[in-house]
Amino acid sequence: MQPDLRGLTRADIETALTGLGEKPGNAGAVFLAVHRRGAVDLAQLPGVPARVARALARAFTLQPLPLPERKLVAADGTRKLLFRFPGNALAECVVLPGKDQQTACLSSQAGCACGCTFCATGALGLKRSLTPVEIVAQFEACLREAVDLRSLVFMGMGEPFLNWENVKKAIKILSDSRGRHFQQVKMTVSTVGVIPVIEELTTSDLRVRLAVSLVAADPGLRARLAPMENTYPLSRVLAAVREYCRARQAHVMLEYILLPGVNDRPSDSAQLAELIEGIPCRLNLIPFNPPGGPGVAAPRIKEFQQELIAAGVHAYLRQEKGADIAAACGQLAAGGDK
Ligand code: SF4
Repeated sequence: MQPDLRGLTRADIETALTGLGEKPGNAGAVFLAVHRRGAVDLAQLPGVPARVARALARAFTLQPLPLPERKLVAADGTRKLLFRFPGNALAECVVLPGKDQQTACLSSQAGCACGCTFCATGALGLKRSLTPVEIVAQFEACLREAVDLRSLVFMGMGEPFLNWENVKKAIKILSDSRGRHFQQVKMTVSTVGVIPVIEELTTSDLRVRLAVSLVAADPGLRARLAPMENTYPLSRVLAAVREYCRARQAHVMLEYILLPGVNDRPSDSAQLAELIEGIPCRLNLIPFNPPGGPGVAAPRIKEFQQELIAAGVHAYLRQEKGADIAAACGQLAAGGDK
């Protein structure tokens, strides 16, 4: 089947037009027609010369944007949307209400291969990576739920850096001034620590923000909770993060999911503070949310935060949302939760 024009960045369209013997300068008008003017038919691309549209129709299709199959609404206003993409690839995205703005949390993969033991998505394994169109479809669905969407996080299902080429294309499509023009600085990509992509971002002209999930400071414990530690040890991940912050003059968001009795001892906070010392960061402490249910009490979370603050860390408690519809951090299981 021919590729879907919706999944092309403007630069991709320029290349395609050149290959079709057309002027690449028409790419902006094509992009505008598809992503802003709602074109649904390659024979009718508003503002695009008919000859160019005919040439594109020889090489591409223009499929309707996929729509969510189901929506759940939580008591706090969080909305979770379930998509069933081709090949029965299920993926969820979430709209998180805030005081002044709403945030879209998108999935990059249907399932995940990383196998973090505390995560419902990890328990599914990987079905497949999502295409740029499937990622854009989630954003558009979130936008229909929340016109005042102000930020976007890749913290849903999947490890975005293991589907980086497609996530990168989606970022470029969503931030293009001829499309949604959603600012890259309002986008955050979260990883459990895929070093080559952190290194790529360090020198990239993308302006997205980086978040890193720490899981545990102790390497042995981290390897048990997040097997990615065996490929990319946290000490090396944080060395890459330090270089990222230095080269870009940027802060990083660090995330630490608090598992009661597992990684919340005073020795854990001390080791954690030592490990991240000197990194310009904000550290979010996230209470553990068991698959399918509301969050468990995190008796040590405030003490843990105080221990980190006393050690000089900018530590914050993350307000968890949508736990009653299994939409909170670590709970996305593509319908397997209900
Ligand atoms: S926490 Fe993230 S990387 Fe780990 S299994 Fe879940 S989705 Fe994958």
